[in-house]
Amino acid sequence: MTWCAVFWTRTKLVNIDLHCHSTFSDGVLEPNALAARASQRGVDLWALTDHDDVSGIELARTSATALGVQFVAGVEISVTWASRTVHVVGLGIDDRDATLLQGLASLRAQRHERAHQLAHKLSELGVESAYEGALQFVRNPALVSRTHFARYLVQAGYAPGMQAAFDKYLGDCAPASAPVQWATLENAVTWIRSARGVAVIAHPGRYQYSDIEFDALFRDFLKLDGQAIEVQTGSHQPRHNDWCATVARHYGFLASSGSDFHEPGQGRYDLGEVPALPKDLTPVWTALIN
Ligand code: AMP
Ligand code: MN
Ligand code: MN
Ligand code: MN
Repeated sequence: MTWCAVFWTRTKLVNIDLHCHSTFSDGVLEPNALAARASQRGVDLWALTDHDDVSGIELARTSATALGVQFVAGVEISVTWASRTVHVVGLGIDDRDATLLQGLASLRAQRHERAHQLAHKLSELGVESAYEGALQFVRNPALVSRTHFARYLVQAGYAPGMQAAFDKYLGDCAPASAPVQWATLENAVTWIRSARGVAVIAHPGRYQYSDIEFDALFRDFLKLDGQAIEVQTGSHQPRHNDWCATVARHYGFLASSGSDFHEPGQGRYDLGEVPALPKDLTPVWTALIN
């Protein structure tokens, strides 16, 4: 990003969306279609943050640039911390960094085995052909996600909607859950820093930690050189956004903002619909100068 773009974001009220997914992970739109949608919906500064993969970045960057949308290269890394999954977004990354690419490949490699486990557990619950069914929704063979299974469960009539599919089958405490040992927090932040990016804890309001665990997570993250948390996100209830603003003030985190858009008609916000950050917080894009 150029100095001019950063100056511009500091002096004008702009529309920022720094979290969404394409067909390279569990979104349904190609990176170029996402760029077009972001542009149509008035997004000025946009990041693609696919799960554990950066293969969509080049197309997203080219498409966004052609449309006059400022682009930030991103990724959302799956982490296991205190036996539960946390997502860490990297923003402003070099998507060719060898350390980052190798780390992401190691996470993707676990997804095939986990997909077979999920299908097996689902078959024991009476869901037939779940593996083949989920694959119908996969566009990037390296990235099979629970979202693809959820789409199959909805399509095949096993669940009335995505939320119900997670509640009934796929959620962390649901009967078909097949836990994975993802990256450590240290690995994820190290890979992002190696790629000269800013590490951001995604949607903190989604995690089921105690107050003591949250405090340990935020302190660990700061010690590792993590800099930001998401405050405004489509993956939160509005009350979580207020709590995250308080957390950002208390720990001195930069604040990020993104829809976590996956699919038209799903989720709280479409691209560009995320409310502005509280004015007293320091936005994460002030650190995206390179
Ligand atoms: P995975 O990385 O394969 O474990 O899949 C995680 C993805 O599942 C998240 O990024 C969300 O897109 C989706 N997801 C998780 N929980 C829910 C939920 N309760 N409702 C809808 N989608 C969910
Ligand atoms: Mn997702
Ligand atoms: Mn996430
Ligand atoms: Mn996401």
